[in-house]
Amino acid sequence: MQNLTSIIALDGPAASGKSTLGRRLADELGYLFFDTGIMYRAITWIALQQDMNLKDEAAITKLAAQAQIDIRPPSKSDGRACDVVIAERDVTWDMRGGDVDANVSVVSAYAGVRKALSEHQRRIGLRGKVVMVGRDIGTVVLPEANIKIYLDASAEERARRRFDEIIARGEKADYDEILKKVIERDHIDSTRAVAPLRPADDAVIIDSDKMDADQVFARVMELCK
Ligand code: C5P
Repeated sequence: MQNLTSIIALDGPAASGKSTLGRRLADELGYLFFDTGIMYRAITWIALQQDMNLKDEAAITKLAAQAQIDIRPPSKSDGRACDVVIAERDVTWDMRGGDVDANVSVVSAYAGVRKALSEHQRRIGLRGKVVMVGRDIGTVVLPEANIKIYLDASAEERARRRFDEIIARGEKADYDEILKKVIERDHIDSTRAVAPLRPADDAVIIDSDKMDADQVFARVMELCK
């Protein structure tokens, strides 16, 4: 039975802290955490793996309709919220790589891809007790959600956070390159014809530039109460 009070839609641009916030909220409330970006990333990863032409909208759309993406409880405690498994291969971190980052916005702009994936997301979301994270959850996937948050931050701040994360993992990172990519991805996501990134009219917009993760969490818990 659908319970609208238990659907939380959390949207916002790349690296705005949606996943961290969404996971924490879901833990606190005992809800399912569903990061819809995983699905767009998975399709992009498969297409790259199979050397498909990403400009071939018909082929990519067919892939999105047929792909078997398995989301399982986390098998490791290495920061993952879940395992993403494709053809029995654990691709959880492969999907976060630079190749996928650079191409996912092209794939996710295709109407047929969005239709296939968002119908699936909607079916899961309507079961309720869910924190669903993405770009179009409050506007398209679950417009009936009664709590809609749009988490924003400047591109510079988001790039800095992404840079710090990569450095903390012991990897190399170039801040300017990250900033450029964040801006590019935002541009494609917010100017696409279908389901562009934008706050729903009834969303609460939270600008996290001057707030830390605890403050953002406290603010959203207030709204939930
Ligand atoms: O949230 P994340 O950065 O993992 O999302 C990757 C990409 O997937 C986004 O840049 C966007 O192009 C696409 N996406 C989307 N709609 C969603 C979630 C993600 O278009 N609901």
